[in-house]
Amino acid sequence: MASVSLTIPAKLPGFDVRRIRRDFPILHASAHGKPLVYLDNGATTQKPQVVLDRLARYYESENANIHRGVYLLSQTATLAYEEARRTIAAFINAPGAAEVIFTRGTTEAVNLVASSFGRANFKPGHQIIVSAMEHHSNIVPWQIIAQATGGVLRVIPMNDAGELLLDEYAKLLKQPTCFVSVVHASNSLGTINDVRTITRMAHEVGAKVLVDGAQWVAHHPTDVRQIDCDFYAFSGHKLYGPTGIGVLWGRRELLDAMPPYQGGGDMIESVTFEKTTYAQLPNKFEAGTPHIAGAVGLAAAIEYVQSVGFENLVPHEESLLNYATQQLGDVPGVRIIGTAKQKGCVLSFVIDDPPISSLDIGNRLDREGVAVRTGHHCCQPVMVRMGINSTARASLAMYNTREDVDALVAAVKLTIHERSAKRHSAPAASPAMSTLKFPPAVADSPATAADQLAEELRDVSDALGGRDAINTHIEEMGEHLLPMPEALKNESTRVHGCMSVVHLFPRIRPGTVDVFEFLGSSDAFIVRGLIAVLQRIYSGQKASAVLDFDIENFFQRIGLDQFISSQRRNGLAGMIKRIRSSAGAMVAASA
Ligand code: PMP
Repeated sequence: MASVSLTIPAKLPGFDVRRIRRDFPILHASAHGKPLVYLDNGATTQKPQVVLDRLARYYESENANIHRGVYLLSQTATLAYEEARRTIAAFINAPGAAEVIFTRGTTEAVNLVASSFGRANFKPGHQIIVSAMEHHSNIVPWQIIAQATGGVLRVIPMNDAGELLLDEYAKLLKQPTCFVSVVHASNSLGTINDVRTITRMAHEVGAKVLVDGAQWVAHHPTDVRQIDCDFYAFSGHKLYGPTGIGVLWGRRELLDAMPPYQGGGDMIESVTFEKTTYAQLPNKFEAGTPHIAGAVGLAAAIEYVQSVGFENLVPHEESLLNYATQQLGDVPGVRIIGTAKQKGCVLSFVIDDPPISSLDIGNRLDREGVAVRTGHHCCQPVMVRMGINSTARASLAMYNTREDVDALVAAVKLTIHERSAKRHSAPAASPAMSTLKFPPAVADSPATAADQLAEELRDVSDALGGRDAINTHIEEMGEHLLPMPEALKNESTRVHGCMSVVHLFPRIRPGTVDVFEFLGSSDAFIVRGLIAVLQRIYSGQKASAVLDFDIENFFQRIGLDQFISSQRRNGLAGMIKRIRSSAGAMVAASA
């Protein structure tokens, strides 16, 4: 690939990224002794001081419950909350503030529409169309409602670059369609979709449209009237605002006709045991005490973004994305996933040569202070479509710099360099079935094996210092994993729910009736380490002892949750479940 083109300016007139960075206190933090390079803005953005101050001011001097009190403080809080609604309405060019419904985030906004509009309007056999690149939060609510109403979920396919095939969409629309729900900018590929055209095509057949703007609103101006969609959803926390607050905008006549999503206080006009009538918009959809501070904080975030100006931040982010694409694309072995012509601030990639699982990439980058997201990004169908298991994803925000990108690229090069060195010293190929070796017992019971391991980890931690040392030690244990023949890596041995590709092969040791042993493999070093931990405890032990041992308690004792993400814990839980169910079957068979 060509080196960086001179057409990418390093600095843009009217935009001083150093000044912007000073507004975000957390950007001056460090991670593992290195300066923090925060590149996980697709997951959530950091918050500027003005938002933090606004939240503090709200709680310090304005906090009361809204809409209920006649006293001054309650009125102050109500005013701030309703003013926030007006700020948001103006930000997305909504015709009226009453059409802006506060939710917990994009997920709740989609669920609100699916549940309320869907239940009232979807017909058996009619299509609900989503796209191949949706976040799970724009798939699962539609599946649930399709099941409940007899609707049929259909998918707009995409090409290898990650662009939707609008010809195929046009063909889908020939069947009766009640709804189309599509993402504005993809969180896993970066693709920016032509939501205006998608909406127009849906309207031509009488279908309504929701646009998921979670990854759009922080990066470009939003105009719901220009898109002409029926519903628009986004989350505050991806827009420099607080977590737990989001927005659903909907056309007034649709919202007016929709039944409430949840019942409770503040959404009623009158209640008797016989009959309840509902409040007007927007209250009808805001049952219970809302996240008042969140709404106020989100308005402050929007005002901050407006003070920077999209006219300034759009060219900065575009220039940075081009620079990052070129720099990362130039690294031998790296493949960028998602190469649409219209792309937002997301750079998903895999490392093919040497093959490194995204989990290992994320782990190694973290130790260099570089925070990226790894996994399927809540887009498992995207991973299947692209023929991969997961990606590492760097996602940019207005405060990111070329130095951040350089740190990312340097850390990726280091990861590749280290792994190449390991590959050259790694033992060759998978063994034949006839020479299978399983790990023997290391102690007379799982409990004793666990005690010994706990002591070993404590020594490592004392000698080398904490969390990182334990992480490295567990990874090193994985390097000595007995190899598993390729022939055993099939669907029946695959453990789903892990962030990497994991296979486990348990059996009763030949010549015994109750000795449990197992082989395991994963494409991620850290997961191989966790398999080695499980083998130390379980392999070669009696199946009944495997069942009796309380491994959760052991994990708590060694503080495993301090250095393992909840996603990886789910993967670990999946492995333990497989081990225990095999051991259970063996005990039952030998009884
Ligand atoms: N849609 C997209 C495109 C997203 O990126 C996300 C968050 N990753 C969501 C929906 C869900 O947002 P939230 O978790 O804030 O509800």
